[in-house]
Amino acid sequence: MRLSRYFLPVLKETPSEAQIVSHRYMLRAGMIKQSSAGIYSWLPLGFKVLRKIENIVHEEQIRAGHIPMQMPTIQSADLWRESGRYDAYGEEMLRIKDRHDRDMLFTPTAEELITDVFRSHVNSYKDLPLTMYQIQWKFRDERRPRFGVMRGREFYMKDGYNFDLTKEDALHAYNRHLVSYLRTYERMGLQAIPMRADGGPIGGDYTHEFLVLAETGESEVFYDSAVTDLTFGDREIDYDSVEQCQGVLEEFTSRYARTDETHDEALFNEIPEERRRTARGIEVGQIFYFGTKYSESMNASVQGPDGKNTPVHMGSHGIGVSRLLGAIIEASHDDKGIIWPEGVTPFHVGIVNLKQGDEDADAACDALYKSFAALGLEALYDDRKERAGGKFATMDLIGLPWRITVGPRGLKNGVVELTSRRTGESEEMPPEAAVAKIAEIYANHRVVGM
Ligand code: ATP
Ligand code: MG
Repeated sequence: MRLSRYFLPVLKETPSEAQIVSHRYMLRAGMIKQSSAGIYSWLPLGFKVLRKIENIVHEEQIRAGHIPMQMPTIQSADLWRESGRYDAYGEEMLRIKDRHDRDMLFTPTAEELITDVFRSHVNSYKDLPLTMYQIQWKFRDERRPRFGVMRGREFYMKDGYNFDLTKEDALHAYNRHLVSYLRTYERMGLQAIPMRADGGPIGGDYTHEFLVLAETGESEVFYDSAVTDLTFGDREIDYDSVEQCQGVLEEFTSRYARTDETHDEALFNEIPEERRRTARGIEVGQIFYFGTKYSESMNASVQGPDGKNTPVHMGSHGIGVSRLLGAIIEASHDDKGIIWPEGVTPFHVGIVNLKQGDEDADAACDALYKSFAALGLEALYDDRKERAGGKFATMDLIGLPWRITVGPRGLKNGVVELTSRRTGESEEMPPEAAVAKIAEIYANHRVVGM
């Protein structure tokens, strides 16, 4: 993309309504624009990152054997009356009337709808296990929408639902989700720690929240510092293997890590003092096993091997896709702007032309731009007639992890400069070498354009 043709409305001033750094940088980098409280337009740069995050979520869900689908945002209240949640959900649910005076609502989550799909089409245990998911807009009329995309009213969420014949099978689905979530967050350059949580209105005894540690997090958390040493890495997991998924769950959840809702001071004090941590965290996902809560109230049963009808065991699993942008920025920035991890960066590399209009510099930038395109890598080429300082400031603010600086003086010696946003370190090299280096860096990060 040539910056002269892009839509990147960066702001020089820090918007006064933004209290936390991710919100400030998302506004300043022209990623989002508020349209009303907790409701945003996703401008091109923000939309690009949202799509990259979404694509990682899809890839990891599909890898785990989960099936993508899509349910409507506007739903009939009748289904929610069946489960009892139409009344129980409270003021967070946006209730709507259609022209026939029927009660409708904007989906805050979709257990009822998926259970209805399931009961209409599945009658036999032979069709189980089954896990379907969607990535869809949700609406919750939050009391205090704030912190930009972190606590929106309209937000983008992956929500998945598993249907199993037995509790044992459903717990395997639970463990499988835990494993796939660990992989998902790590691909985004995030450490998200599974912590024992509270079931809340969805209910159930088994639930973990995934938290990214950050001072601005809304949750208070307590953990054994040993949990922060764990990484999932690129290990191969057979998602059908009960033992392997169980093994990962034990490895990642056997140490103390809890949100304040489930915190147990006595247990916490058994951890050696130097490893005890109290901190704040951002909830970026949650998994639940809730047994037959919805299948019983909504009559979702299958015929078992013994010929008898039994309600199915279910769980649901959510990832805060739009909140993740904020969480990633909270975890990865400096005083100049965002520092995107390679896995989610909107463009793989920035090209800064120090002297737009200079024949050699323009030609070298064009050549670089074309080389990246040929490799399937996205470059953002700042081809505007602007001062170098302004160009650098924009690149630093929008946080592309790699920048190539091209100027007539370097070109006389056959070199351009490759700079890491994270370390600030620069290296001079021939343009072809810079392209090769960038290609190597991204070899492990799939390229997704939009
Ligand atoms: P919270 O406790 O933060 O209100 P929740 O536990 O009610 O969230 P879930 O029902 O578990 O949320 O939804 C799954 C995920 O969706 C959460 O882990 C979070 O990342 C994200 N999420 C929930 N509410 C919002 C919101 N208002 N804005 C943005 N993301 C949200
Ligand atoms: Mg939650």
